[in-house]
Amino acid sequence: MRIRTNDIVQVITGDDRGVRGKVLKINRAAGKLIVEGVNRVYKHVRRSQRNPQGGRLSKEMPVQISNVLLICPKCGQPSRTGARFLDDGSKERYCKKCGAGSGEIAPPRRARSSQK
Ligand SMILES: [Zn+2]
Repeated sequence: MRIRTNDIVQVITGDDRGVRGKVLKINRAAGKLIVEGVNRVYKHVRRSQRNPQGGRLSKEMPVQISNVLLICPKCGQPSRTGARFLDDGSKERYCKKCGAGSGEIAPPRRARSSQK
């Protein structure tokens, strides 16, 4: 999946199915990402110096990358993304539904020659 931070994604499985949110953090090694407002858990915090009130802290837990789909900025639908080369040799993501590009993923030229 070609997802970057600040992308808007939609969750497609689990309790948060259908929820859209912004990608806050990506852990590619683990194949997980943190989406704003998704998979939120409450942590109960005891009163302490740092947190004199105590109480509940909400925190998003990572979700599996395969459980989200990128929302296409053009057609507004959750869609699969593909990658294609442009005329100048740069590589971009595109929406497989409407074909609109959604941002460069590799700069022109050099990226192509370094491909395996
Ligand atoms: Zn689209």
